[in-house]
Amino acid sequence: MDTAKLETCPICKSVNHKNNVYVKKGDKVKIHVECADCGSFVARYTLLRYSSDKPFETLLIKLRCFQLSSSREVLKDVEAFGLEIASEFGYVKNLVKERNEQRKVEELIDQTFCF
Ligand SMILES: [Zn+2]
Repeated sequence: MDTAKLETCPICKSVNHKNNVYVKKGDKVKIHVECADCGSFVARYTLLRYSSDKPFETLLIKLRCFQLSSSREVLKDVEAFGLEIASEFGYVKNLVKERNEQRKVEELIDQTFCF
């Protein structure tokens, strides 16, 4: 089973957020989620992979390292936008509406370890 919900601010319960993207050479990219209404810390996400909104051809033009590198390692960390992502995005948005999930994100992550 899967579920989905909107992240909520622990202070004011807002679902409006700003994603502060922190990029440091040698580290995984981190997203510090800030409440757009009260400025509180909501959560920090550490990325395994960034899914771009750009299709593959556009992404190749934008990624300078990819053009210079023969290893093309950058594609492990950045993936181009495609039908699978578009489909999942629509599915997750519907799931958020359907489930009206009340549990905290920590609890949702915890349940993935229980059988
Ligand atoms: Zn807030």
